[in-house]
Amino acid sequence: MTARIIDGKRIAAELRARVADEVVRVQRENGLTPGLAVVLVGSDPASQVYVRSKHKQTQEAGMASFEHVLPADVTQSDLLALIARLNRDPLVHGILVQLPLPKSLDTEAVINAIDPAKDVDGLHPNNAGRLAGGYAALAPCTPLGCILLTKSVHSSLEGMNAIVIGRSNLVGRPLLQLLLNENATVTIAHSRSRELPLLCARADLVYAAVGRAEMVRGDWIKPGSTVIDVGINRLPAVDGKTRLVGDVAFAEVSQVAGAITPVPGGVGQMTVACLLVNTLRAACAIHGLPKPAV
Ligand code: NAP
Repeated sequence: MTARIIDGKRIAAELRARVADEVVRVQRENGLTPGLAVVLVGSDPASQVYVRSKHKQTQEAGMASFEHVLPADVTQSDLLALIARLNRDPLVHGILVQLPLPKSLDTEAVINAIDPAKDVDGLHPNNAGRLAGGYAALAPCTPLGCILLTKSVHSSLEGMNAIVIGRSNLVGRPLLQLLLNENATVTIAHSRSRELPLLCARADLVYAAVGRAEMVRGDWIKPGSTVIDVGINRLPAVDGKTRLVGDVAFAEVSQVAGAITPVPGGVGQMTVACLLVNTLRAACAIHGLPKPAV
């Protein structure tokens, strides 16, 4: 069997177009322009690339984009003061602090300082707790993207066996909750889990969010299952450059799975698109408008 490749690039472009349509409607009907503020501390090259991409895609969706670049030696109190200002700013409906922060800063305190209504990264404990309780919440963007990619293959996930490998607050844990909301039966695995290949072998849906290049092998996978690869790992390439690979051994697994996301071109494309969705939803919620149709 050769798996169907789930085209994250196309699905993300369609999602961004739907967001842009909804932004036009909300502007026309309510005079509201959703606004996203992104805070970058320091000059990590990978983070700069992500922030530039978020800025461009936010503007292309017709939203206001506010970028705040702070030096790596910014003090905790100055960063918290900026977040307090953004919390009060009526033009800002979403606040994202690009992670990781320099070690000198207290990441947990920074996340806790964001108004939960504007927490479009879905990391504030209020949103994490609401999601875990099965209540409406702003959920982290990467797991939201994973669900949308899965639904491009399966219209319903009800009763399916899913395994999530990885239990981070950013990906694994919220993905577990979103899958439960879809009525999947979920196993969550981590570095202390035993017999991971056996756990994977009974899964209809496999989500790899580990950060270990090509860890999930072809002989772990149930034939026909859907495999969503969240991992982004850089390996040395023959020409002295680097190449991106996921947490899944794509060449092997694509011979067994029914559908699979590539790296790049899979989950990564969806994360920013879902950030735009969250910003639009946050703007509507803050203004007491009905949930947008996206
Ligand atoms: P993380 O915080 O480092 O968490 C990794 C998880 O993997 C942990 O729960 C860890 O278990 C588990 N783990 C480590 N080794 C394992 C093993 N041998 N077997 C089973 N589980 C193991 O990473 P993250 O932030 O969730 O990110 C995971 C990957 O996704 C990374 O490659 C990251 O770059 C990528 N990512 C991609 C996107 C995107 O937009 N595509 C977004 C976010 C992250 P313990 O809890 O026991 O330590």
